[in-house]
Amino acid sequence: MAGGESCAAVAFVHGAPMNRLARLIFVAAATAFVFMGQASAQSLLRDVEIEDWLDDYSRPIFRAAGIPANEIQILLVGDQSFNAFAGGLVMGVNTGLITFADTPNEIEGVIAHEAGHIAGGHSARSDEAYSAASRPMLLSLVLAAGAIAAGAPDAGLGLLALGQTVGIANILKYSRGQESSADQAALTYLDKVGKSGAGLIESFRKLSSSQIVHSQRVNPYLQSHPLALARVNALEERAKLSPHFEKKDSPEDIARLRMIQAKILGFMQPTQFTLRQFPLSDKSDPARYARAVAYYRGTDMENAVKEIDALLAEHPDNPFFHELKGQMLFEFGRVAESIAPHRRSVELLPGKALLRINLGRALAATEEPENVKASVKELKSALLLEPDNSFGWFELARAYGTLGNEPMADLAMAESRYNVGAKPEAAQFARRALKGLPKGSPEWRQANDIVVASLGVEAGGTRAGEDRPAPEKKPAPERPRDEVPDPQFH
Ligand SMILES: [Zn+2]
Repeated sequence: MAGGESCAAVAFVHGAPMNRLARLIFVAAATAFVFMGQASAQSLLRDVEIEDWLDDYSRPIFRAAGIPANEIQILLVGDQSFNAFAGGLVMGVNTGLITFADTPNEIEGVIAHEAGHIAGGHSARSDEAYSAASRPMLLSLVLAAGAIAAGAPDAGLGLLALGQTVGIANILKYSRGQESSADQAALTYLDKVGKSGAGLIESFRKLSSSQIVHSQRVNPYLQSHPLALARVNALEERAKLSPHFEKKDSPEDIARLRMIQAKILGFMQPTQFTLRQFPLSDKSDPARYARAVAYYRGTDMENAVKEIDALLAEHPDNPFFHELKGQMLFEFGRVAESIAPHRRSVELLPGKALLRINLGRALAATEEPENVKASVKELKSALLLEPDNSFGWFELARAYGTLGNEPMADLAMAESRYNVGAKPEAAQFARRALKGLPKGSPEWRQANDIVVASLGVEAGGTRAGEDRPAPEKKPAPERPRDEVPDPQFH
């Protein structure tokens, strides 16, 4: 959104507890709802169900906006404040935006507004920053940008001390002119896809009202700044002219949103809070879903499994219920039992890397040779779908390690490190792999590629087929060794 209607201070101040929460959840929830690298205050999440949902609502709007719809990276930011941001070919959506919405159309409106920023090249200056940054660098920049894009120019000043965020602060600081042009563009796109602009108006209303800024989240800038309301009124006049203005989301679409909201709340809120919000008397699917996740996070295995089983009894073909059950069982140490639900989720949605990684990981964790071999196959399929999934490569390295195949384990580790931007380490692993791989084999060439690309950084070396420029001026922030290797950034 940027501009005057949201608040950097909020996003940032809430970062500290979120960080701890994220770490806890990371330990508890390895891949189904994954908290990604920590950059400044926020975390990126990976979740197939939510990503699918965002794709379904965003891509048509991106197409209507005439921007390269399939190349836009959509980031899900684990932050319960209401926000979204865009820059270059990246759009970020906070979990808080999703849970605050009453209808899909409200989120759609914000997505259309962000698409307006992208289409308008409002962050054109960020292109330079992106091309100079490796992926993890980009990641932290984008996340830092999230905190800043959230804020008004003056509200963002407090964050300027953060060094590397300075550039992004300038980059994603949209002018009022750009904000209103994004608004107008949003209405045009919504019209094109036959959707109402009412949701956008409603989102802005919420943004400018106290609904978003509960007590300690108050942002003085937001409270005092009249811009938001003026914009809303101007926008509403035009939105009402559309033949689609009165169109409502279908009950099915609302039901789908409720499930995603329940899942997010289950993962993002303290367990006790979720259990109060969704009392046992509520037998609806979203309530069961939220409780299943809350019990799981509260390590109440019995109730967690009971709730997810109740959902599965009614919806035996929902891949995400199987995924969650697999995740629960795996994390509760019932590794062998977790394989069947994970396998079922892959059968139901074969094209999803994250589901295959879950399965591969569970298979490998049994340490039975046949399972570990099957795991390698599964992880390789996953990595064909997401070749830059560092977490997948890490699991593959582990599986090869279990099988005693050191050169392949080294190669997979090299890929894993490469994809989080730790190029010197990637080169080390790749060089070690080269010693054990048959010279001239595809794997040998792959390792060689990594060495060249990692060491050729100064010379601007890139790997074959790699469209992103490799040179990086500053080293990517290093992660402490004992942390889980930084997972997938897609
Ligand atoms: Zn904006």
